[in-house]
Amino acid sequence: MPKFVYDFTEGNKDLKDLLGGKGANLAEMTNLGLPVPPGFTITTAACRHYLEHGAMPEGLADEVNEHLARLESAMGKKLGQSDDPLLVSVRSGAKFSMPGMMETVLNVGLNDESVHGLASQAGDERFAWDSYRRLIQMFGRTVMDVDGDLFEEAIDDVKRARGTDDDGDLTADDFKELVERFKAIVRERSGREFPTDPREQMDLAIEAVFNSWNAPRAILYRRQERIPVDLGTAVNICSMVFGNMGMDSGTGVAFTRDPASGQQGVYGDYLQNAQGEDVVAGIRNTVPLTELERIDKASYDRLLEIMETLENHYRDMCDIEFTIERGKLWMLQTRVGKRTAAAAFRIACQLLDQGLIDVDEAVRRVSGDQLAQLMFPRFADSVDGVRKLTRGMNASPGAAVGKAVFTSERAVELAAQGEDVILVRRETNPDDLAGMMAAKGVLTSRGGKTSHAAVVARGMGKTCVCGAEELDVDVKNGHFTAPGGVTVREGDLISIDGTSGDVYLGEAPVEDSPVVRYFEGELSADEGDDLVKAVDRVMRHADERAALKVRANSDNPEDSARARRFGAAGIGLCRTEHMFLGDRRQLIEKLVLAEDDAERQAALDALEPLQKSDFEGIFEAMDGLPVTIRLIDPPLHEFLPDITELSVKVALAGDDADPRDRKLLEAVTRLHEQNPMLGLRGVRLGLVIPGLFAMQVRAIAEAAAARRRAGGDPRPEIMIPLVGAVQELEAVRDEAREILAQVRESTGVDVPALIGTMIELPRAAMTAGQIAEAAEFFSFGTNDLTQTTWGFSRDDVEAAFFGRYLELGIFGVSPFETLDRDGVGRLVRIAAEEGRKARPGIKLGICGEHGGDPDSVHFCHEVGLDYVSCSPFRVPVARLEAGRAAI
Ligand code: PEP
Ligand code: MG
Repeated sequence: MPKFVYDFTEGNKDLKDLLGGKGANLAEMTNLGLPVPPGFTITTAACRHYLEHGAMPEGLADEVNEHLARLESAMGKKLGQSDDPLLVSVRSGAKFSMPGMMETVLNVGLNDESVHGLASQAGDERFAWDSYRRLIQMFGRTVMDVDGDLFEEAIDDVKRARGTDDDGDLTADDFKELVERFKAIVRERSGREFPTDPREQMDLAIEAVFNSWNAPRAILYRRQERIPVDLGTAVNICSMVFGNMGMDSGTGVAFTRDPASGQQGVYGDYLQNAQGEDVVAGIRNTVPLTELERIDKASYDRLLEIMETLENHYRDMCDIEFTIERGKLWMLQTRVGKRTAAAAFRIACQLLDQGLIDVDEAVRRVSGDQLAQLMFPRFADSVDGVRKLTRGMNASPGAAVGKAVFTSERAVELAAQGEDVILVRRETNPDDLAGMMAAKGVLTSRGGKTSHAAVVARGMGKTCVCGAEELDVDVKNGHFTAPGGVTVREGDLISIDGTSGDVYLGEAPVEDSPVVRYFEGELSADEGDDLVKAVDRVMRHADERAALKVRANSDNPEDSARARRFGAAGIGLCRTEHMFLGDRRQLIEKLVLAEDDAERQAALDALEPLQKSDFEGIFEAMDGLPVTIRLIDPPLHEFLPDITELSVKVALAGDDADPRDRKLLEAVTRLHEQNPMLGLRGVRLGLVIPGLFAMQVRAIAEAAAARRRAGGDPRPEIMIPLVGAVQELEAVRDEAREILAQVRESTGVDVPALIGTMIELPRAAMTAGQIAEAAEFFSFGTNDLTQTTWGFSRDDVEAAFFGRYLELGIFGVSPFETLDRDGVGRLVRIAAEEGRKARPGIKLGICGEHGGDPDSVHFCHEVGLDYVSCSPFRVPVARLEAGRAAI
């Protein structure tokens, strides 16, 4: 039978799958000899069993008994023992941190008798009754599903009766009264008595923590963070230590470096005479951790020592939760800390300099997503003409502008209408998650850098300013007031700067990030700050290690030039149909509608010089690097007028209708397709419309010849889209070769051009061996390959039903965003393998949107492709991921 329970002395940090992050790290700290209150962890396997079968696994109860007995003997007291009770916390802890999303119950073991025992042991009646009411409150809410507001209202009632608005003024008698009231609330709302048997409390709390894995907010968070749905949570049973035993007690959160900037120093928040949840909930304002030196120097020194031990041990920035009980420091949690993108780059390079990690590890420690965040624009240094309202804490960097909204629901509603919103709250709690996701940024008036808002926003990469205390936020009435008597109401535009903490009324102007200026070559690494230097260092090493090259998808000289500055090794996809938008659309229309050879030839003749000059510009921008030009691939509906609109126009005009419109309508009706994505497009179009591909190939060849004559080094590659059978490709290839020979002859310049194909149909993948006989390269068009493999219309499905599919866990992320390894990926593997077998040395790339997606880049590396191609702005991200994939 599997083992379901581990003492803290039995686990270690590498057992996160089984013990969750919290349990594994509590075990690690215990083994390091750090002061961790004794306890044990129930595994995620037990949770998974419970969630699957609706019952605890066999043998779990016995194991819990055994470990509880061991804990009781270590502590010298029994759970809930009436004269000196052992109390425990029951905490969730999954493999991946999900801050505040699941449940925790503290002070388990208290009841009408043991509360007296606790009072006499602690010599503090008020503390004991406060602890008891906290238990009923938390237990009522999490285990018995009672609305938490009812408890808060009861507390407010008692405070009102006492004429105070500070919890600190409440007496032991007040808490006794609250205990009675809370019990009545539980009885009334749940139809059950609050259980007084300590063991029953513990068992029910364990079950509630298991169930909280599937709480709606936890599901939402997992989807956002791409955490698998089936991991389950572990449960940590830990003997209680109390930060609320008076002013020589307290609780805090610390980081071994600043999680916002990455700078070294002492960062964290401390709250005297409080329990841990008070800090994370952001409901009371904390003091900076440095104050602890003044309050309790011995604990402060010990804490710094432990922080150093942890950093050296984990070789990374750690975050820590601790409690001081009457001058004795206890460690309640540690983990490798979440950090902003900028902090990640800085910390990786600091640790490298300190010799704690090597340069490969430094590159592994940052991600393409983080780099992408650093490339977002930010507010300009001088923000003229926009009124600064206040400065809060810079909790999560970025520049966000939007309409102020005061509830999560409104944020979701307005965002769905396409509005940019900033969610403004006094503090956030886990129920605000949907609103935080919908908003461009989050602004709170209370809570420190470790408050819920800050932690969650940082995790999401969302701009957040928190603890802007000068703001008076009135959520009920939908406004806040700022110093100087300014009132901001729902719908008013505000700007928040998560890097400085500044809050502005109105729309502040934004500017390019220094990291983009660095990639653009406007700012050298030497001129840049330590962040730019760190990015430079990481990128250099990533490029050195990468096996994959990174090309760009670009169809004009400007984007191509930028892509090159961003480090692109060529163009992987030049979509020629993009060259026919705007004014030129009519030329294509003429071509498609041509009724005889002469009309068609006239349209082609008009197009050719335009195409030639387009290609020359791109070859020049990418001189010396390969440029893959895809022959035109429009589903025809993208170029012709909308059939409904045109029909209405002609019908409304009646007898007066323009004859040209009538003719157009006739043709549009003739060419109308029910499934244009599966219709006359790609290679089919080239085979059906004589002269179209020939014109493009000639333009490519002549542009290349002209560049060569001008002293350039053009490297064209001609790519045929949507091929399903080798015969299609052969026909087009033979014609293209003929034209290349003609141009060679007429210009006297020989510019070799590879001729290859896209693999974007399952049949192409399955017959890749045959196709490779006729193709000098393959480029996987994974947009269409995903569309045709799943049978998902790429234009319709995401809005239509992907939300539901994600909810049902059919996939964790849209297959149009991250390549579906099992299905589409399998086709890619088969095609790559058979293509290589038929033509050793065949060049292989990918040019669907997946080319810029980190996970998909890793897949392409694993399959051994030669390059990925993505949009110019994603090129640095793909370069970094290509390096990381190779390490
Ligand atoms: C593809 O299908 O993946 C592709 C790159 O082509 P397009 O997106 O232009 O259809
Ligand atoms: Mg395609």
